[in-house]
Amino acid sequence: MLTSAAERKAETGYRIAPECPGAIASFQLPATLGFGLVTAPVMYSCEYDGRHWGSRQLLEYGPLQIYPGARALQYAELVFEGMKAYRVGHEQPNLFRAHDHWQRLANSSARLSIPVLPEDLFLEGVEAMVRACAPFIPRISGRSLYLRPFVYGTEPGYMIRNSTTLRFIVIANPVEPYASGAMSVAIERKDSRAGLGGTGTAKTGGNYAASLRATSAAGTRGHHVVLWLDAPEHRYIQELSGMNLFAVIDGELHTPALDGTILPGITRDSLIAIARRDGLKLHERRMEIDELIGQIGSGRCTELFACGTAAIVAPIRQLVDADGSAHAPKLLDVLAARLRESLLSIQERRAPDSFGWVREIRIG
Ligand SMILES: *Cc1c(COP(=O)(O)O)cnc(C)c1O
Repeated sequence: MLTSAAERKAETGYRIAPECPGAIASFQLPATLGFGLVTAPVMYSCEYDGRHWGSRQLLEYGPLQIYPGARALQYAELVFEGMKAYRVGHEQPNLFRAHDHWQRLANSSARLSIPVLPEDLFLEGVEAMVRACAPFIPRISGRSLYLRPFVYGTEPGYMIRNSTTLRFIVIANPVEPYASGAMSVAIERKDSRAGLGGTGTAKTGGNYAASLRATSAAGTRGHHVVLWLDAPEHRYIQELSGMNLFAVIDGELHTPALDGTILPGITRDSLIAIARRDGLKLHERRMEIDELIGQIGSGRCTELFACGTAAIVAPIRQLVDADGSAHAPKLLDVLAARLRESLLSIQERRAPDSFGWVREIRIG
C-alpha cells in the first residue's frame, strides 16, 4: 500500500495528486456512455518550458489555467490524437497501435513546427490514464476507453511564430461507438476542409474549424456528417470530417489514396492490411464523386462505409448531394460488418494479432 504522493511518484515516475484516488474511487460508470459524454475523473499533464519536459502529473479532471493570449487559443497551435484502450474478455487492458498514434502526433507536430513530444512521455501519459481508469474501462464489446492526448502552445503573444512553451495533456472518456446506425452523408460542394500544402494530413484543431460550417448545415438538413472533396475542383473525394471513406465497387474495395490532403487514418491503414491479408482486392486511388454517384446508380457500387478510431467501421446509408438528390447503395453493413468484426477481434484480443498492433498494459 502506498502512503504518500512522494512514494507514489517514486514508483510511477510522475506525481499523483492527492485528490486522484478519491475521484477514481467515487466514479460511477453510467449505463449509457455516448461518445464523449462521460469524462474520466483524472487527467495526465506535462509541461514543456522551452527546453525540458517536466512536472509530470496525474491530476483530478477539471478546468485548465491558460493565458487568454496563448497561441493555442489565438492561432490554433494544437495537435491531438484519438486512440482507445480495450478491456474486453481480458483482465489486463490493452492499447491498439500506440506507437503509430505517437508517430502521427509527431508528424502533426512537425507540420505545425511544434517540438515533438518524446515517445516515452506520450506512452507514459497514455498508460498512466489506462492504469488510473482501469476500474471503469468498459468490459462490453464495442465499448472502450477513448484517450485524447493533445499538445498545445501556452505562450501568449500575437507574433506569428511558435509558442516556446507547451503543455501535453491526456484526457479520457469511456465510450460507445461514435455513430450508432447507418449514416446519412452530405456531399459538400462549396466549402473545403483541406488543400495541398495545407494541414489536412495533420490532426489539428484548425481542420475541424474549417469543417464546422458545412457540418452544422448538414446537421440542419438531417445528415450526420460531411463528405469533403478536393479544394480546387470539388471533383475528387477526400474523406469525412473525422473518418476515412471506403466503397465496395464490383465486389472490390476502393478508398481515396493519401494525396497530401487526407488524414492518414490508422483505422484506414488497419482495414487495408486486414483486407490484403484476407485476399480482398483493394484499390487506393483518386476517386471522382460523380463517377461514384454513377456507380451507385448503376448498382456497381454496392456498399459504402466510413472508418475511424471513434466510429470503428460505420455503414453509410446514403450520399446526399447539395441539390437534395440521394444516392443509396443497395447493401448496408455487409462487408463493413465483416471488416469491423475482423478489426474489433484483434483490438479486443479475440483473434491472434499477427500484425503486432496490440500492447497489453499490466495493471497488476
Ligand atoms: C482522426 C481522423 C480520422 C481517423 O483516423 P483514425 O486514426 O482511424 O482514428 C480521419 N479523418 C480525420 C480528419 C481525423 O482527424
